[in-house]
Amino acid sequence: MIRSHQAGVLRSADVGTEVVLAGWVARRRDHGGVTFIDLRDASGIVQVVCRDIAQAQALRSEWCVLVRGAVAARTEGNVNPALATGDVEVVASTIEVLSSSDPVPFPIDGADEIDSGVDETLRWRHRYLDLRRTGPAKALRTRAAAVSIMRRVMEAHGFLDIETPYLTRSTPEGARDFLVPVRLQPGHWYALPQSPQLFKQLLMVAGLERYYQIARCFRDEDFRADRTAEFSQLDIEMSFLDEEDIFVLTEELFAALWRELLGIELPTPFARMTYAEAMRRYGSDKPDLRCDLELVDLTELMAGTEFRVFQAEHVGAVVVPGGAAYSRRELDEWQEWAKARGGKGIAWLLIPADGEPKGSITRLEPERLEALPAAAGAKAGDAILFAAGPRRTTLEMLGALRLAVARQQGLLRDDEWRFLWIVDAPMFEPTEDGGWTAVHHPFTAPAVEWQDRFQDDPEHALARAYDVVGNGMELGGGSIRIHRAEMQQRVFDVIGLTREEAQSKFGFLLEAFRYGPPPHGGIAFGLERLTGKLAGTDVIREVMAFPKASSGGDPLTGAPTPITAQQRKEAGIDVAVIEEPLGTKTVSKDA
Ligand code: ASP
Repeated sequence: MIRSHQAGVLRSADVGTEVVLAGWVARRRDHGGVTFIDLRDASGIVQVVCRDIAQAQALRSEWCVLVRGAVAARTEGNVNPALATGDVEVVASTIEVLSSSDPVPFPIDGADEIDSGVDETLRWRHRYLDLRRTGPAKALRTRAAAVSIMRRVMEAHGFLDIETPYLTRSTPEGARDFLVPVRLQPGHWYALPQSPQLFKQLLMVAGLERYYQIARCFRDEDFRADRTAEFSQLDIEMSFLDEEDIFVLTEELFAALWRELLGIELPTPFARMTYAEAMRRYGSDKPDLRCDLELVDLTELMAGTEFRVFQAEHVGAVVVPGGAAYSRRELDEWQEWAKARGGKGIAWLLIPADGEPKGSITRLEPERLEALPAAAGAKAGDAILFAAGPRRTTLEMLGALRLAVARQQGLLRDDEWRFLWIVDAPMFEPTEDGGWTAVHHPFTAPAVEWQDRFQDDPEHALARAYDVVGNGMELGGGSIRIHRAEMQQRVFDVIGLTREEAQSKFGFLLEAFRYGPPPHGGIAFGLERLTGKLAGTDVIREVMAFPKASSGGDPLTGAPTPITAQQRKEAGIDVAVIEEPLGTKTVSKDA
């Protein structure tokens, strides 16, 4: 080793020790012939004092240097309690420049929070500088520590860490696939896995019983703040289980993470709520329980009304405590907010402490208007904000309104951790062309009472699927799987997959299911979402070493890039494939 100590570990007990340190110049100050350097390495910062070292004045920020010297106590007035090493400093005897640095594109010193306001693209482009900052580096350390705890818990329960292929066939998680051309078989393509779903099920058929993997997943989706094209999951599958096994394991895992990384005891078991109840009370399948506001359902009260606005499948509201004080401008802002989300708008009623209620719905029948405050549970001084329309979209709009109101009124308790399970989710949801698609994925088993009849009533059929939600974010989801080919086929029928298509896409799974598959199920946690929460951020890119920009693309390497004509030819991209019967293909050379 070229150094004797790490900079950040020096303490009073080291006074008098000769040390060799190596690191970066975080800051340099000249004080009448004496130069002070804050020397930073991965462990932290220590102050280095350079007297009569002419060269010290030439040092600049982010130069990489080797310092020889002795640890000394700082004089009383110079102790710096903000620094772990603040009781001591290193009096340098020599300084050697290991490498110099150009001026850096954004400040590194002093910006310890994760997001220092520097433009995201600039940060990712120079991520190797961004990670010299304490905050961003700490987020990656938290991720690493979390992964280590996960592995320990999984191994303690006998789970095997098994890798599954990246170059494979499409797995149906509802996104588009990233495709990889195959030089040796022109016109044929691999898909990168959207998740290891089918492989982990095959490992259950294989009798391994307990699998886990920190798995990379690839999904070609539109860009969003909490999505990126590639991300990781803690992916789990087990045999001979029921929902309880997954719940208990998850709760143990989360409790260990929160205890060891944040010193917080999470109450377990987590609350459980059906999907229907979550939608009804919170307008969301991932309700944030840090706020007590609940949605109000006024559909029944408005049944048969002459008032056009409320002639709808669903009429609901959010009561804003203290909202009677809203100004006209604030109410207009809610209108704009609703329209920006694609809604029709928001009706409102203010209930002042004295005087008549005022609002945009005063043409409602008098007896209904009068009944409203009590029906909505609103008190004098409150406002009621209404939305009406098709049930699902209206509930979702009200759910978003609830959160926006909670934030505006300071009703979200930021210091709380609220976890819950969402169970009894629907099996299917309608597609735009009038068919059905699986809500979770098509390998999810129906609820026991729907086993024999989900195909007759896809709209209401429930699945043995579960999501774990923390502070309003879906942190993981999974299901008990179908393990019988016959039932699997009926699900494919509902989602409109013909026998031939099913055979061509998932024939290998159906075939495996002919050889005594065990009952099995699992779950996958979004690793960045989970570790981001632990690191104190909802921005998943902050816990990725080299993230892509939210506008897409990798600002660091410049990927994706065009390819050359030669690469294109070699990859066989333009070779046309003539589809013959499904699954067998002929390559045409003249395309
Ligand atoms: N493969 C699923 C997903 O990626 C998780 C699971 O069902 O275990 O969401």
